[in-house]
Amino acid sequence: MLRTVVVAGAGQAAAVAARTLRRRGFDGRIELVGDEFDRPYQRPPLSKEYLENTVEEGLWLLTEQWCEEQDVRLRLGTSAVAVEPGLVRLADGTGLPADAVLIATGGSPRTLPGVAGEHVHTLRTRADADRLRERLRPGARIVIAGAGFLGSEVAATARARGADVVVLDPLEAPLLRVVGAELGGVCAELHRANGVRLRLGDPVESVAEGRDGIGVRTASGERLEADALVVAAGIVPATEIAERSGVAVDNGILVDPSGRTSLANVYAAGDVANHDHPLFGERIRAEHVESANRLATVVADTMLGRQAVFADPHWCWSDQYGVNLQFAGHAAGCDEIVVRGTPAELDFCAFFLRAGVPRAAFAAERGTDVMAAKELIAQAAPVDPAVLRDEDTDLFDLAMEGVS
Ligand SMILES: Cc1cc2nc3c(=O)[nH]c(=O)nc-3n(C[C@H](O)[C@H](O)[C@H](O)COP(=O)(O)OP(=O)(O)OC[C@H]3O[C@@H](n4cnc5c(N)ncnc54)[C@H](O)[C@@H]3O)c2cc1C
Repeated sequence: MLRTVVVAGAGQAAAVAARTLRRRGFDGRIELVGDEFDRPYQRPPLSKEYLENTVEEGLWLLTEQWCEEQDVRLRLGTSAVAVEPGLVRLADGTGLPADAVLIATGGSPRTLPGVAGEHVHTLRTRADADRLRERLRPGARIVIAGAGFLGSEVAATARARGADVVVLDPLEAPLLRVVGAELGGVCAELHRANGVRLRLGDPVESVAEGRDGIGVRTASGERLEADALVVAAGIVPATEIAERSGVAVDNGILVDPSGRTSLANVYAAGDVANHDHPLFGERIRAEHVESANRLATVVADTMLGRQAVFADPHWCWSDQYGVNLQFAGHAAGCDEIVVRGTPAELDFCAFFLRAGVPRAAFAAERGTDVMAAKELIAQAAPVDPAVLRDEDTDLFDLAMEGVS
């Protein structure tokens, strides 16, 4: 019988799992072990409104009052180091009894070889955002290594604070791996239109730290003098606890569609989980809030003996220069892109098809189209590209047709 749940990690997935367990009526012990000193908080604001203006509204995921009322124990500033039979071992040697364990340890920013020092920043925690904000002053020279979602958002926020921004990326377009060259080019124009200088296909080669700044040498030999270098090169999943405990790991902790790891009663969710996705027929380790929420909910249900799987298309958003971008699904292996709307005007929804079947969508300022796209992707049925492209097609009606 399930009496005690211990969660290693106290971030997005941990908070949602705890909330779901209580909502479903679980009245046993819940303990969240987090190595940060903060209560669980959302990370998306850290590159947006919190980074720009220290806006804390909506930042916190669990209030102290809720934790008290719901008897959810937070052990903050504490690392969980291993899962042993019937318990979670903490760094100080304490063993917390656990009938079920959720590993929701997220990840840590990927670093670049030889790139470190006082003027080098990464962004994962609230403390990282506070430190970086200090550098983002009007006229400050900021170099950002990485033109993915995170680097692009930091560029937008740095511009909003008046900094002078250069973005470097080894690839030829921002978000190239996610959306391809053409739509990546649209994202590049968005940066340029907002005064960002892009150095694409030109990664950081080396850095030289000085007392008042940093010299960044790129692969093409250019040397950029900067007040700060922000490395936004993705994350490394935090799998140490799993590895130490004999849980199977391969680019994250391997889990089934219900979040089960290779060890009985041990689950994983969030950025650290590499899950088997029934819809796409492959393993995916997503790094988005919605995926963390969905899998954490499924894990809570599974712990309680309910039938639950995470089979929805993934979904995420990004805000850059006041433009809302959204992505849904999984574009790997797609052979056709069908665009609805006008990319140059940042008013579009592009569908990624594999053998005529929508697998992913990427949109600017078209959240409603993306919601409909999620339904079409979930149906996994071929759709006529001309119908998708036609602005007179109601995408929700189209999705309904597929259902009937
Ligand atoms: C700056 C930023 C902006 C983002 N913006 C967006 C966005 O716009 N849209 C979107 O969909 N997603 C966004 N994301 C991604 C999103 O925040 C993550 O997908 C989400 O936080 C994942 O939740 P998680 O619970 O897996 O990990 P986290 O929220 O990172 O929580 C993991 C926690 O576990 C702790 N921990 C690690 N190891 C241990 C251990 N051994 N013992 C105890 N504690 C441990 C970590 O320190 C951390 O506190 C953003 C991320 C960042 C960093």
